[in-house]
Amino acid sequence: MSTPSTYDIIVIGAGPAGQKAAVQGAKAGKRVALIERERGIGGSCVYRGTIPSKTLRESALHLDRLKRAGEALQFNLKPDTQISTLLSRLEDVVQAHDSFMSKQLRRNGISLFHGRARFVNARTIEMQTVDGAQQQFTAGTIVVATGSRPRNPQEIPVDHEHILDSDSLLSMMYLPQSLTVVGGGVIGCEYASIFALLGVEVTLIDRATYPLQFMDKELVDQFVKGLESYGSHYLGDSHIADVRWDGITHVVTTLKSGVIIRSEKMLVALGRQANIEDLDLDAAGISLSDKGLIPVDQFCQTNIEQVYAVGDMVSGPALASKAMEQGRRAVRHALNLPVGDAASTIPLGIYTIPEMSSIGLDERGARERYKDPLIGRAKFEEIARAQISGGGQGLLKMIADPAGERLLGVQVVGDSATELVHIGQLALQSGVTIESFIDNVFNFPTYAEAYRIAALDILGQVAKRQQAKAA
Ligand SMILES: Cc1cc2nc3c(=O)[nH]c(=O)nc-3n(C[C@H](O)[C@H](O)[C@H](O)COP(=O)(O)OP(=O)(O)OC[C@H]3O[C@@H](n4cnc5c(N)ncnc54)[C@H](O)[C@@H]3O)c2cc1C
Repeated sequence: MSTPSTYDIIVIGAGPAGQKAAVQGAKAGKRVALIERERGIGGSCVYRGTIPSKTLRESALHLDRLKRAGEALQFNLKPDTQISTLLSRLEDVVQAHDSFMSKQLRRNGISLFHGRARFVNARTIEMQTVDGAQQQFTAGTIVVATGSRPRNPQEIPVDHEHILDSDSLLSMMYLPQSLTVVGGGVIGCEYASIFALLGVEVTLIDRATYPLQFMDKELVDQFVKGLESYGSHYLGDSHIADVRWDGITHVVTTLKSGVIIRSEKMLVALGRQANIEDLDLDAAGISLSDKGLIPVDQFCQTNIEQVYAVGDMVSGPALASKAMEQGRRAVRHALNLPVGDAASTIPLGIYTIPEMSSIGLDERGARERYKDPLIGRAKFEEIARAQISGGGQGLLKMIADPAGERLLGVQVVGDSATELVHIGQLALQSGVTIESFIDNVFNFPTYAEAYRIAALDILGQVAKRQQAKAA
């Protein structure tokens, strides 16, 4: 084998985490090699995750708006609607992304290689290309960003034709008439509500009494109500005994309770597992957690000083936003550049229909930590903007300390929830008072007005508490 090519930084994986790591390294003037095993760059975010699911979601919302606007036309999707017609914009979106990212890599002088990478030792990587050729690279810093894939349990026979996972779901030719979704986490809930809105009869099942257990229950209740309003439903406390394809038309799911569910297709959404098998981590001396993730510190440094791990392969929410920030952070730390404090609060955006978002403490968390927090509510039905756009169902909750002075968290469900939360995020970070939401003028009509209404609700409760104390 020829002499290894030498770089300052090698990044493995060109998903959101790897790309941002590579760009940060190049911007600091370092020689960077980025190794990606697939032809395209962008990772599961672009090809099988965020972008495809959000594109399908946008089509579902467009169709729903059309339907509502022209109710007299009795517009309905044809029973044999091809999935590709609903994803017609996907190719354009992916291409735009691919071309933007390629230009960004080129502009920053990053050397992009296509092949499968593995460790030879803690400073050397070997890459194998599709034609079997091998090439070695060495570097002072190595960033592992190989992402994750669906975790499919052995007891469910995923065949990618009738029983699918989130990687294969959108390869279905036609919109099914019925779909069982196993798993009430983010991916399961997002797809369940998208397909339900498209007119598919969805049964979402999970062991838990209600889905999205880590979210504020009041928000989740609105999601379940939404699902039911489209003729679909959530089946909690469900333990699967058996799943099989009947060989003719249906996937048959038998629950331990004896309930049998028949559906044309099934989506298995039972979490993700890190892509580590190909990496030969042992050769570098990198240890793994018992969950199969790479343990890292706040700078994403592994137990081997010069090796960093970022994105879905380390613990924390599996989000593209988190992955990008970790990529940037890891490289800045490796290069002794100021890193800044780790964001203690990462917003959660869940693109269910209706969408949900969360930052900081929710009501349950605040009650655990503070004896009597104050909760300000703004229902979207009180907001002109929501009425105008027909997005009347929604809620913004502001969580404040018992004195009603300090903001502790914001929880939103309804149209624009994933955008609205960022106002709360900035307010939390800069420690603004609840009163300042009232002292500021908000555009009218906007969804952001909800902050003012919720803040007024809190101050009203403060006044009542004071009166009760004085009495
Ligand atoms: C259906 C779905 C919807 C989602 N929606 C959202 C959302 O709305 N918002 C959000 O923030 N996040 C969302 N996510 C999560 C988001 O996609 C991930 O958190 C993000 O892609 C993680 O980025 P990453 O860089 O860690 O890994 P990935 O995007 O998985 O990229 C890893 C890359 O490494 C490459 N690779 C792996 N092994 C090797 C190897 N040995 N050699 C070379 N290359 C290798 C892979 O080919 C891949 O390109 C969604 C995910 C799914 C599945």
